[in-house]
Amino acid sequence: MPSTIYDSEPQLREKMAAPTCRKMLRECFGEYRVGSRKTDMCTHCNTFHCQLVPDFKQFMQKARRDLEVVLPVYFRAWDAAGRAAEDAQNGDWAKVASALLKYIHTHHSRFQNERETLSRADRLTLFSEVEAPIELELKGRLSLLTAFQWHMVSARRQGEYFRSLIDKLAQEHYLMAYDFRQKLRLPLAPTETGPMWHCQQKVSLACWGGVFVKHSTKSTVAQPQVDLTFLLFLSEVVEQPAEASNLMLQEALNATGAPFSGTLQLWSDTGPHFRSAGNLFFYARKLCQARKQPIQIRWLAEQHGKSILDEMFAWTGTHRDGWLGKHAARFPIYNIDDMAQALKTGAAAQMQKDPSGPKWIVKKVRYPERRASVRQFLHAPSLKITGTYALDAEPHHGQAPVPPALVNRIFADSDDRCRVLDWKLETLTEDAPETWRKTFFDGPKPWEEEVDWRADHHLKRVYEAQRNRPPPRQILPTKTL
Ligand SMILES: [Zn+2]
Repeated sequence: MPSTIYDSEPQLREKMAAPTCRKMLRECFGEYRVGSRKTDMCTHCNTFHCQLVPDFKQFMQKARRDLEVVLPVYFRAWDAAGRAAEDAQNGDWAKVASALLKYIHTHHSRFQNERETLSRADRLTLFSEVEAPIELELKGRLSLLTAFQWHMVSARRQGEYFRSLIDKLAQEHYLMAYDFRQKLRLPLAPTETGPMWHCQQKVSLACWGGVFVKHSTKSTVAQPQVDLTFLLFLSEVVEQPAEASNLMLQEALNATGAPFSGTLQLWSDTGPHFRSAGNLFFYARKLCQARKQPIQIRWLAEQHGKSILDEMFAWTGTHRDGWLGKHAARFPIYNIDDMAQALKTGAAAQMQKDPSGPKWIVKKVRYPERRASVRQFLHAPSLKITGTYALDAEPHHGQAPVPPALVNRIFADSDDRCRVLDWKLETLTEDAPETWRKTFFDGPKPWEEEVDWRADHHLKRVYEAQRNRPPPRQILPTKTL
């Protein structure tokens, strides 16, 4: 793994910084891309640390120079208070920016005596030519820093809540978390030839991964104990719209026998195939009505994945120690059935090693030939789906045909309940829905053909043409692989 290489090679550490090393590994070795969904890889977080904060520090220095040119004691009270340094130390740059804005904005009223020492012309320059443009820029920077810090705090807020849930799931709650992993390329084999490599660039399988969490039969309120089931579902369909993720989720609920009692929590990232009006219809309407149980719909912050699933994808991956890597070192994986077999072998070995540990379900999922002819969506003008990480759908328990209630919680840890009343359903009907798209390789697949001893072969003809020119003595047959 990249971290171990980096940690164990002092020479590598001397030559490059950890982020550079991770970046190179990610770009050069596909299997290390597992890490690309880690918290520290988020592009927003990266922009904050690598651009916004350094730029803001520079801006602050320049602002300070410009103000002190006119009034050398401008920052005396600021430095004496020393709070900004502490906030900066804690990484709260929005707080630093906000305090600075307040300091500059109120300077003329708070520090009149100091400003009186300046000439009238200098006072005017300070106020309108130095302070005013700095305030304007500072306001812009403050709003950016605040929004980015909010993103980072929200990511931790949802992420930590999710991780704590796995150990502290409420009784009568069931949790399903899921994600599509990076596509699995085909074929994989102990030795790979040129045509195989070309095929890998074109042919891949989709893999949906999930973890289902429920209380074990021995679990009590005093001593909670949960069972985990990991799911790996393979499909030849590589498209991943909301319809595909909903199909996979339905398969997962069937495969795990998720109970229809209690509350079902669904956790995913905010990818458009998990957080859209099509998903919302499926979660809040279809599932909630069919299962007659409350559905808690939860999303992690933008670009922040679920570490437990990333770990699963890493164990089962194509790198040397991953299940697929180990399997492909001994047996070829040419198609979806081989791939399923490789993962099943890994799962069986893992469950044998750790019989009381997580269970594994590996499955090939066959989509209907065509995409759905009727597609349904749930919208609400008052609900901006991209602005929430938590919605609850609650079924009506009476006899009347009342649709489930929809409640916006915004954050999973929030007690606020904002009932969404203005929902609308939208239906799109397609007379001839498209077929699902699969990848394919339209050339001969020499690796799947065996050479027939009865048949002619190109190399036999080459031999016949060249047999009168024997090789020099030192060129001998080599051992087979
Ligand atoms: Zn982020």
